[in-house]
Amino acid sequence: MHSGKTSVAPDHDAIVVGAGFGGMGAAIALQRRGLHDIAIYEREDDLGGTWHVNHYPGLAVDIASVTYSYSFEPNPHWSRLFAPGSELAAYAARIADKYDLRRRMRFGTAVESATWDDDDQLWRVTLADGASVTARFLVTATGFLSQPHTPAFPGIDSFAGRILHTADWDDHYRPDGRRIAVVGTGATAVQLIPELARTAAELTVFQRTPIWVVPKVDFRIPRAVRSLFAAVPSSQRAARTISNTILELLMVVGVLRFRQAKRLNRGAALLAKAHLRVQVRDAATRRALTPDYDFGCKRPTFSNRYFRVFNRPDVHLDTDGIERVEPDALVTTSGRRIPVDTLVLATGFNLWDVNFPAFEIIGRGGRNLGKWWRESRFQAYEGITVPGFPNLLSLNSPYAYSGLSYFTTIESQMAHMDRLLGELDRRGASTFEVTERANSEFLDAMTHNLQDSVFVDGRCASSRSYYFNQHGEATLLRPNSTSATFRAARSFPVDDYTYV
Ligand SMILES: Cc1cc2nc3c(=O)[nH]c(=O)nc-3n(C[C@H](O)[C@H](O)[C@H](O)COP(=O)(O)OP(=O)(O)OC[C@H]3O[C@@H](n4cnc5c(N)ncnc54)[C@H](O)[C@@H]3O)c2cc1C
Repeated sequence: MHSGKTSVAPDHDAIVVGAGFGGMGAAIALQRRGLHDIAIYEREDDLGGTWHVNHYPGLAVDIASVTYSYSFEPNPHWSRLFAPGSELAAYAARIADKYDLRRRMRFGTAVESATWDDDDQLWRVTLADGASVTARFLVTATGFLSQPHTPAFPGIDSFAGRILHTADWDDHYRPDGRRIAVVGTGATAVQLIPELARTAAELTVFQRTPIWVVPKVDFRIPRAVRSLFAAVPSSQRAARTISNTILELLMVVGVLRFRQAKRLNRGAALLAKAHLRVQVRDAATRRALTPDYDFGCKRPTFSNRYFRVFNRPDVHLDTDGIERVEPDALVTTSGRRIPVDTLVLATGFNLWDVNFPAFEIIGRGGRNLGKWWRESRFQAYEGITVPGFPNLLSLNSPYAYSGLSYFTTIESQMAHMDRLLGELDRRGASTFEVTERANSEFLDAMTHNLQDSVFVDGRCASSRSYYFNQHGEATLLRPNSTSATFRAARSFPVDDYTYV
């Protein structure tokens, strides 16, 4: 065991990697505990994470905006119930300014690796330009959906037209009169496809796995309501509580307590099927758009416009796989040749191969986090700390994601950080590490809770859901209610950690 004597002063109190809502929330939590020497490294050229990187047409939140925002920073000015992406980017910028985070951010700075130095009790972080920086605490806030996935179709390099990934959209691109192929039918494609279909000459949608889509109750928030939210903040808090409760019912009862509440889950599936029946005329197309896995195996989405596009004569649904790409066409596995001039990759993100973690992290005794997770199950105490990794707060860990809105996750993690760093202070210590015992008990509890969920008790085999890791375990979502998550964050036994 280390003596606890630090011989070298670190460059910073803390290094935070990632300037999305996660990294900013963590920086606010650190500041509240009096840690002000924080460096936030971000590989992109601005802050906002998801909401900076993604700006494809149609982008909007799929969680009502009263809920998808920090509870301590309500925004009375959302234009719609489900705000467009640009408003989220603007909201992120306002938060950064208000909490004076911008001057702590270094853009265009990718972190390559981090190693715990047990002699000096600090993290040594290596940046892409080779520079080395040290800090007492390391917070990784690199996101779950942050490493775009590009399928390796044979011949893709020979394609002579445009290739656009939804996470790297060209705002100058005009779909008017184009022959477009969209690959993928996840939540992003559901938002984008109706926008492209409006003016494209031909649009072919390549679907591997259909998605459950329920109606979207969205509208412009009237000026009077916005004024009310601004003048009487408790009115917006009440709206948030209602929205949170609906989401919680969907998530906890419909997905996590599937075994006990199959009827609610089946009800949601029936609603989505009725929506499809009303919107799509052709029976064969409806069949192709109907998932054969249970509702909730994969994140469902909301739209009133997606299904309807398949009634158009210039929009085609293709369920054959893509065999190869030619300079001006896609060739399907059944041998059909579809001429296209634009290939849109709505193929999402790679979580389990290149994230977890997003860069190499070496802990005490040379433990490699990525290897350890893959060899001894994906796990993290309360979804935030890992044995063998002192002073590491890993926000994008297994079982970290609680509830449907990401803000539940980050705010419960902020509460956990507050309690942990407060205890560290109280003991006059400088290093924390979660015990192997506490970590194993937490993993056992999560494994046990998962048994009731749709992931274990339902039919998810064909869902190809990012909730499942490469071993087939659903280790992304935390299988308990968000109130239980918050309770745990505020009252976990402080002796679940050792302090030096
Ligand atoms: C299109 C889209 C729509 C979404 N809609 C919703 C929604 O409606 N509701 C919801 O709850 N969630 C939604 N999400 C999930 C969304 O990612 C989270 O809600 C939230 O924005 C995540 O914040 P974050 O800070 O954890 O991660 P991110 O926003 O992904 O930020 C992580 C940051 O880390 C940076 N980074 C990564 N690796 C490195 C490195 N090695 N060095 C330096 N920087 C690095 C990235 O560049 C990125 O800026 C959506 C995601 C996408 C992609």
